[in-house]
Formats: sequence, C-alpha cells, structure tokens
Amino acid sequence: MYVGKFVYPDYFVTIMAKKKIVALLSGGLDSTLAVKTMQKQGFEVSAVAIKTPFCDFDCGRGCGFEIRERADDLGVDLKTVYLGDEYIEMLKHPKYGFGSGMNPCIDCRAMMFEAGKKHMEEIGAEFIISGEVLGQRPMSQFAPALKKIEKLSDLEGKIVRPLSAALLPATDPEKNGLIKRKDLGMIRGRSRKEQIQMAKEFGIEDPPNAGGGCLLTDPAFSLRAKDLFKHIETPTTNDIDLLKIGRHFRLDKNSKLIVGRNKDENEMIKVLALPNDILLEDKENVGPTVLLRGDDTGKHVEFSASVTLRYSDAPKNETGVVTVHKNEDGREISIKPAEETSYIKLRI
Ligand code: SF4
Repeated sequence: MYVGKFVYPDYFVTIMAKKKIVALLSGGLDSTLAVKTMQKQGFEVSAVAIKTPFCDFDCGRGCGFEIRERADDLGVDLKTVYLGDEYIEMLKHPKYGFGSGMNPCIDCRAMMFEAGKKHMEEIGAEFIISGEVLGQRPMSQFAPALKKIEKLSDLEGKIVRPLSAALLPATDPEKNGLIKRKDLGMIRGRSRKEQIQMAKEFGIEDPPNAGGGCLLTDPAFSLRAKDLFKHIETPTTNDIDLLKIGRHFRLDKNSKLIVGRNKDENEMIKVLALPNDILLEDKENVGPTVLLRGDDTGKHVEFSASVTLRYSDAPKNETGVVTVHKNEDGREISIKPAEETSYIKLRI
C-alpha cells in the first residue's frame, strides 16, 4: 500500500507500508512456519487464535500459554476468539459430518476461517493464511476438503496455505501478483521432516509440536460427547466441561452419574455442580465426589450412593455411610457398596 512521497532537496523517498494479512495461529509448528514464510516476503501478520468448548487452552496442556509465547516470538499481535454456543450448535448437525471421533473438522475449520475473515475485514488485511498441509490430516486437509472449507467460510480464493500453496490452485493474491509461486511451499503428507528443516532455516530453536489437542478426536471423549448430544437437545458448556472429567455412567435417558477419579476432579465436580444436581460422598473413607444429574434423580440416589462407596476406600462387603447433598439439603444413607456388574454396563 502506497502511503506517501516525501520530497527532499535532491532526491525522492517513497515509503511503502507493509501489506497486512491474517494468520490462524494454533501455536504448533506448521502455523508458526506459515507466519514466518509470509513475514519473510514482507507481510505484516496479525494472528487469530480460536478457542472452542473442546479446545479452550485451559485443559492443562498449556496451549494458551504457548500461543501467547509463540505470537510474541513471531512479533505478531494476537486476537483470541471464543466460539461457544455457535460451535455447540454446529456440532449438532455439521454439514460435512464427523471424522473418526466426534470431530467435525471441515465445518470446524470453516468456522475458524470465518472468525479470521471477520478480523481480516476489521483490520483491512489482504488475505488469510493457515498452517494447513496438504494430505496431513485425514478429514480436513485433502484438496477437496480444503475447497469445501473455503466455500463454507465464503473465502474462496482468499485462503493461502503457505506450506503447500505451490501444490494447490492459484489463489487471488497469487493471481494479483501479491505472492509468487516460487516463494510458496510444496509440503505434502504427514512427515514433519521438511517442517523441521524449515524451522532450522528460520532459526527456530526448540520447534513446537503439532498444534493444540482437540478432545473431539479422542475416542473415549467422543463416546461421551455422542451420548450427551443424543440425550440433550442443546448441551451447555457446563455439560461439556463435565465430559472432560470423571467416569461417566448413563442411568437412563435423562440421568447421568459422574464419579471423580482424583482430588482435582472431585473439586472440579463441586465447582460444576448446578443447583438441582445431587452430590454424594463417602462420609468415613477417602473416595470420590459423585454428581448425579437429571430430571428425576430421586429414584437413582440409593444406587448412586452404592456406586460412591464402591469407588471409595470403604471395605467392599460392609455397610457404609454416604452423604447426599442437593441445594441446601443434606442427608445420609447407610448402604452396601455396589456390585461391579450392576454399574459397569452403564459406563459410557
Ligand atoms: S481436530 Fe478438532 S479443532 Fe481441529 S479441525 Fe478437527 S474438530 Fe476442529
């Protein structure tokens, strides 16, 4: 973009402002290299990081911290966008379906690019880049999927994937001469050899791993998520946060039992408990905090108390005491620990 011409006594100086572009940044190596590649070509990069209820940077894997650090290392400003209710809504019926878990990768990427597009328009950027590599991921990174993502996000011709762009059809910036094919990558597939080599060339010490983890690709989590969406029309972020911890048991179509597996999960279960949930604990022995949630939970209290004892340090053949709390009310139940066969078949 031309911004001015200053006249000095015996010569002219023309100042050219850097062209702005937006990058989807995951904090992983590929998106880092995509940014570096474009910075090398003189672009000013502004990064967007996307949080969803299933990858919120707060799961303890440290992604949030890594993205911030990565953006600082790259010298780019960072905007974080949270896709909450709209993401859950999309997950009910993703246009392009699911991958091997409950991952709706094509629709998910399209939503991320839409958020990037909004930022692009706000700051007057020319186009948007990402670290996607052709053929690297089974669902979303094959050529037809990349096309679908562009179409769904209404960004046809405006998405550049610098690591593989020389293998893909020309985008608008290439047609307009803003970027040249010779400066774009030809990386294909799952090997990270070329990326590691590029990282060396860019002087990136200690290259990051692949981008942050997505719970929707985790088989065990996907089973729990599918069960939740099958039984609740529109799950809340609280429902989803509960999916991330504990052992889950489906008692009937409206009721679920969640059993904490350690002290941290017990604490988290208490934090996530809603007014009508029932909380159970072994009164006399170390054991789990157990949450019973549903419409008609009263009929499941005794069974839940026996499961609570089963997972505590209580002797397995003796009657124990379980505290039961709902809202302000509390009571105690004397009961024997459940037989494993009575609850294991209910595990999700
Ligand atoms: S792996 Fe998860 S975050 Fe990544 S595109 Fe698929 S659904 Fe989205």
